Amino acid sequence: MKILVLNSGSSTQKSALFDLEQNSSHGPIPPLWEGKLEWDGDKETLHVHNHTGQEIRSNGKASVQRASVAAMLENSWSGPTAVLKSRGEIEVAGHRIVHGGAKLTQPVRITPEIKQEIENVASIAPLHNQAGLEGVELVEKLLPNIPQVAVFDTGFHRTLPPQAFIYPVPYSWYERDGIRRFGFHGINHEYCSHRAASLLGRELSTLKIVTCHLGNGCSLAAIDGGKSIDTTMGFTPLEGLMMGTRSGSIDPGILIHVMAGNPTDPRRNRRDVAHVELIDETLNRQSGLLGISGVSSDMREVLHATRNRNERAGLAFDIFVHRLQSAIGAMAASLGGLDVLVFTAGIGENSAEVRLAACTRLKFLGVELDEAANSNANPDADISLHGSRVRVLVIRAQEDWSIARKCLRFASGA
Ligand code: AMP
Repeated sequence: MKILVLNSGSSTQKSALFDLEQNSSHGPIPPLWEGKLEWDGDKETLHVHNHTGQEIRSNGKASVQRASVAAMLENSWSGPTAVLKSRGEIEVAGHRIVHGGAKLTQPVRITPEIKQEIENVASIAPLHNQAGLEGVELVEKLLPNIPQVAVFDTGFHRTLPPQAFIYPVPYSWYERDGIRRFGFHGINHEYCSHRAASLLGRELSTLKIVTCHLGNGCSLAAIDGGKSIDTTMGFTPLEGLMMGTRSGSIDPGILIHVMAGNPTDPRRNRRDVAHVELIDETLNRQSGLLGISGVSSDMREVLHATRNRNERAGLAFDIFVHRLQSAIGAMAASLGGLDVLVFTAGIGENSAEVRLAACTRLKFLGVELDEAANSNANPDADISLHGSRVRVLVIRAQEDWSIARKCLRFASGA
């Protein structure tokens, strides 16, 4: 079955085409075709790979993003990177939707009612959910007769117990306003837990796993017997670990202080100082690695500057690692033990330095890294010492394939 997957981010649109067999129990397979559009200000870059690895890359000026996405998808059925005879071969489309809210937790066929529900929760993750909906509408136009399936990044965390998902604020905030922890990156946390069990030849139901999704966005999940029981992201993807441009958790008193302004400043004006948009922009886009280092939100550049003795880059790295270690400890405590620690996503898969630094203080939990295996890790890989009580794995994120698998199961009625 030919399945088209759309994975919309705030400044990227990834798309992949898979050909999956109904009863295949194989692990992840590469897509037949893959496209990625990136927007940086008004600059636009397109990368397209087909199954032979042929790449076309073009740079342009972003005018109408929707037209660019349509043109990218067309590369799968026409031109030099085509892998299909016609668009009619595509049987189903799957979408990663970041936030499903309290109601949408399982993969679901997209209907007008479901679109409305996704729209309703867009206020919590506006950039992501809107991009997801635009992808749905584009497929409605280009491929009007195929079913579309939404897979939610919040869905895996539906098993969190109340003590983990309810915030210690007036209960009415939860009951009346729906404010609670949702957690994100669930598609990858779930995939990594299954992959870890299969790599180790163990039953998932017997394992206590902490998965560290460290990419542009970073979150941890505590997974007990295959179920998410705790996670670091919260009501929004801003809570928890330090990230590329996001602060992660900070004292909420800081916000009250910033919103109140400086009482001794004669120019004090609440509306100027407290602009919700300004706080949103600062905590989501000007903080994290970028905010501390002043160099970049990209861990590669922060590491490079650290090696060149840039003190603030070094500090950004140290804060990142400190917060990561404390959060791994917290997740292990929620689980009441730890069997497997997984590193995944851009930083987790590629940065031996981050993995080494994160593990150095975790020996008391039974984490012992094989430094040579860590330095040479080519995911998926086990990088723990032979006798380490906790297995440490590096697992490549396979979000698009996971979404395609869920679509296949959905389309076959499982
Ligand atoms: P993702 O969101 O999973 O695509 O991860 C993107 C992030 O991964 C980038 O912003 C980089 O910070 C990070 N990254 C990618 N490759 C490396 C690398 N070799 N070393 C350190 N960080 C990396």
